[in-house]
Order: sequence, then structure tokens, then C-alpha cells
Amino acid sequence: MSSSNHIISAKVREQFPILHQEINGKPLVYFDNAATTQKPQVVIDAISGYYSGYNANIHRGIHHLAEKATSAFEQTRKGIQRFLNAAKQEEIIFTYGTTDGINLIAQTYGRAFLNEGDEIIISTMEHHSNIVPWQMLCEEKGCILKVIPINDEGELLMEEYKKLLTNKTKIVSVVYASNALGTVNPVKDIIDAAHEVGAVTIIDAAQATSHIKIDVQQLDTDFLCFSAHKLYGPTGMGALYGKEDLLNKMPPWRGGGEMIKEVSFEKTTYNELPYKFEAGTPNIADVIALQTALDFVNELGLENIASYEQELLEYATEALEAIEGLTIIGKAKEKVSVISFIMDGIHPQDIGVILDQQGIAIRTGHHCTQPLMQRFGIVGTSRASFAVYNTKEEVDKLVAGLQKVKRLLA
Ligand code: PMP
Repeated sequence: MSSSNHIISAKVREQFPILHQEINGKPLVYFDNAATTQKPQVVIDAISGYYSGYNANIHRGIHHLAEKATSAFEQTRKGIQRFLNAAKQEEIIFTYGTTDGINLIAQTYGRAFLNEGDEIIISTMEHHSNIVPWQMLCEEKGCILKVIPINDEGELLMEEYKKLLTNKTKIVSVVYASNALGTVNPVKDIIDAAHEVGAVTIIDAAQATSHIKIDVQQLDTDFLCFSAHKLYGPTGMGALYGKEDLLNKMPPWRGGGEMIKEVSFEKTTYNELPYKFEAGTPNIADVIALQTALDFVNELGLENIASYEQELLEYATEALEAIEGLTIIGKAKEKVSVISFIMDGIHPQDIGVILDQQGIAIRTGHHCTQPLMQRFGIVGTSRASFAVYNTKEEVDKLVAGLQKVKRLLA
């Protein structure tokens, strides 16, 4: 690890209060970042700063607090526009997160524009949140779900993908980076091929935003969804990017306040973008805090974060591969900092419990990707996922912990 990278992690760690505690008498090693990242103090302060300083409902108030809250809330929309390089801020819709964004597209675009026999393509490595909304739509509309297969390394078979595309393909929805394998998919090629048959594209960027610089205009994707809580921001909020012309064409989804222009019992007209899709009082504090999280990431630089995490990934991959009886699941050439593994004769849950006794937090199970686990013929994996505040010393502790698991259980 280079010394400059070491400085990044030491300086960064200080900013995360949760990391400075002991679990079961041992310093916490938090390796469950793909489930959710921890929050820096500035993000925590942004949430309490709103409630203690300017809590007010947004958009409709004319008093000082309402204007201050509205301005901070809309600042985040501009911040996301810049973060994703979207052409317009109206193309950014606040959601509860990635799951909510995908459901919004399925329930609006999908219900309005898909018909019986139309085809939707996803991949083997999708999170349940990019499977179930499409199954629900298929059931309702009589559409057909097709699945891109993967190789044993956990990479998409692009030739097979191209064979699945037909003039009936209406939606291609794929994950940018897999939460269970770490695989980074060639989304630009996927999008371009989908557009050739006239399909619209959705990118699940839940695991990508904290590791990969995203440019929606360069990707030319029609939609993209992410969650704030995987990007050092708050839980239960996120955003959907959609091209303006598509969002304009789509019917609204949830009905209520804010998404209307005018309501009468005879006829209601709907608000303009982005408000058309933002019914009800939103999660104001957390939207505001997302901007603070984006500032945190921007100040460090996504490229610096990614290169530091790649060093951790390489270091950990080498160390874990040296443990006899341990197999890494997901060996794609392009990966984010996620390592899934199994150990001969040991249930993933037992690994998680023994590591927890040593203060090490990893995730075990199917990672909301049951069809992917079926593809590999396993019930689940143990998964260590790294963020910018993790260190090589923590990886050493994981390795020692896994040696202990072997001594106790193998
Ligand atoms: N897609 C991927 C790849 C994910 O990792 C996750 C979260 N584990 C989701 C979608 C769903 O995100 P959320 O629960 O924040 O809606």
C-alpha cells in the first residue's frame, strides 16, 4: 500500500465515530460495506442540523425556515445532477432508494408501455430488487423475462446477451456492480446493444456509486437508480435518474400532495418534472444529508477512493486465496471491493458468528441474490466488502479470524 493511500485511510477513519468502538472486547472491523456504508460525522451533523436549525416542510412555505429547507433540499438535486453528469436537474427524482426507483419504472413505464409478449432482459447476478418488480410486471401484463447467463468467474456472457435481444425486447435492466460477486459489468456495451433493438435501459447502480465515476450522458442510459446509504449517506433514500423525454411520457405513480398542478373532483392535472414523481412530504433531512455525503466523496475524489479500495481488494484476495479450503466466488477481471467466499465443510453463518465474536462484521447468506446462488450451486457465501476507511491491518485480522474458524470448525 502506498504511503499516500495510507494517509487517506487514517484521516478518513477519524471522521467515522462508529468505527471507534469495541465489539465483544475487540476493535470493530466493519467489512459489511456492500450492505451499507458507515456515515461520517458531517453527514450525521447535517441530519441533526436540519432538525435543530431549520426543520420545515418544503416548497409550499414562504417563511424563512421553509425557504431555507427548500433551498437545501433542491441543492441536493443539483448535487446529484453534477455527480451523475445528468443534463438537467429535472431528470433527478428522489426515491426511497434503488428498490423504490426500479419499482417506480416498472409501475409507470412498464405498466404504460409494455404489452403481452414483450420481453424484459435482466441478468443472473441481479439483486432481488431488480428481479421481483419485473416478475410482478410480467405476471400482470403477460411479458416475458429473459436472463443473461454468466460464466464461472461471474462475468456476463455478452454473446449470449446479444442473442437474447429481439425486436420484442422493451427493457434491459442490469446491475452495474454485483453486490454478491463484485463483478463490474460492461454497462456501456449492454446499453448500446439494447438501444440497437429500441429497448430502454435501466442501470442498478446501488453498488457502483461509491466506487465508479458515473456519467449518465456518456453511458446514454435511459434510467439509473442508486441508494444514498451505500454512498456514506442516510438510509431509506436515493435517487432515480431518467431521461427527460421518457419521464415526461410516463404516467405518475403515487398520487397525493406535491405531484399535482391542480386538483378538482372532476379532473386532476399533474405537476411538472421532477415533482410529478414526488408525492407527499419527502425525507427532507436525509435528502439534505446526501449532499453532505456527496461533498465528502467529491473531496476525497472517487478515483482516489477506488484506487485505495482496489489495493485492499488485491491484498485481501491474495491473502484469502492462500487459506486452504477457501474458495472465492466471483473472480471477474473487473471488480469492486467485494469478496465472496465459501469454506469447505463450514456453513457461512458459522463463519459470520465466529468472526463477530472477534469484532469483525461481515455478511453471510444469499445477499438477496438467490438465483445467483443457485447458479453456483450454493446456499450462500460469506462476504467481506471494503470501503475507504478500511485498512490492510483489518484485512490481516480477517485472515487471522478465518484461521480461527478453521481451527474451530474444519
Ligand atoms: N441492488 C443492489 C446491487 C444492491 O446491492 C442493493 C442493496 N443491497 C439494492 C439493489 C437495493 O438497495 P436498497 O435496499 O437501498 O433499495
